[in-house]
Amino acid sequence: MLLKTKGIAHGIDAPVVGRVTYTGAENAEILISNDSTPDIFRRYRAVLSTQPKAFPDDMPGVFSIPGFEHLGEGDIVVAHSDGVVNTAYRVNSNHNFLLFTERCNSNCLMCSQPPRDKDDTDYLYHLHSQTIPLIPKDCVELGITGGEPTLSGDRFFKLLGQVQQHLPETEVHCLTNGRSFAWPEMAGRMGDMNYSRLMFGIPLYSDYPHQHDYIVQAEQAFNQTIKGLYNLAKRNVRIELRIVLHQQTIPRLVKLAKFIYRNLPFAEHVTFMGLEHQGYTPFNINKLWIDPVDYAPVLSEAVTYLADMGMNVSVYNSQLCVTPPEIWDYTRKSISDWKNVYHEACKSCSMTDRCGGFFASGMARHSKAIHAI
Ligand code: SF4
Repeated sequence: MLLKTKGIAHGIDAPVVGRVTYTGAENAEILISNDSTPDIFRRYRAVLSTQPKAFPDDMPGVFSIPGFEHLGEGDIVVAHSDGVVNTAYRVNSNHNFLLFTERCNSNCLMCSQPPRDKDDTDYLYHLHSQTIPLIPKDCVELGITGGEPTLSGDRFFKLLGQVQQHLPETEVHCLTNGRSFAWPEMAGRMGDMNYSRLMFGIPLYSDYPHQHDYIVQAEQAFNQTIKGLYNLAKRNVRIELRIVLHQQTIPRLVKLAKFIYRNLPFAEHVTFMGLEHQGYTPFNINKLWIDPVDYAPVLSEAVTYLADMGMNVSVYNSQLCVTPPEIWDYTRKSISDWKNVYHEACKSCSMTDRCGGFFASGMARHSKAIHAI
């Protein structure tokens, strides 16, 4: 699915954030039109058009764009001075997210979005602080991601506060490595927000500190994450634990499940996640790849153990034909719509509606045992 397009910008000096309209809606900021004759476009902050520039010189816009099939009425876009138009929010999707920063203090072997050492926090803060008030109030779910979002510092709390105030009914899921919350002031500030619709998704890859630190490529990461988890739990912040399934996590997976039950029973949700073949993963594939059909018994034992202990467990990014049937009830269709695809074998499978399928990037490397059910 296309989330970005490009044309030729005129009169755009700074990014223009706005809801698009094809119909001349009054509550929109950006008009999509090929018709430069009526003066209606003057109501808007910018125009987007597939035509070469035909609007008056003082009308900012992006022109000669290949097409708008990917944009719906009310979607929020950011039009940049280089002609790039990014989709920031899609009204007909439940997979919207705000990327707070691309910086990170970890460097995980399987990171799907490798960090960049560039301070983008101010730039992204300004974009998101304009985007959030435009998001429809009936938005069901919103993701917050990075990099490591907490590295935005004060801006992290300001943006979260803005979401809390503007979208009080929206379930917010924030991915963080949790390390920043080892500092009690950070966790305290989070607790003070009293944000019951916010859940943190925090990865924990091993019960053995050195193994977790190796996977995230950061010394002391395990200790900081564990401290962070306790500090957050003490302040009633909701926590989900996330475990990616690969060669480095599978050997101790059942031990990790037991560690979680004994030491982190306050986690509201534990998710086991199939590997995404994106970012660093293809470069580290020899250290990571293990066929899901080969780890199925271990996954089944870990999931069943936690579920039997009364914990809320899910399996994400899995394919039913290589997942033991006894844990099918825990599998979820979790892959975002814009990167979710199915295999040739899926065309004749009776479980397609229930099966999560594949990441588009995962088609290059998938289980040898994929078969129609
Ligand atoms: S064949 Fe495709 S749809 Fe069927 S279970 Fe396997 S991956 Fe899922």
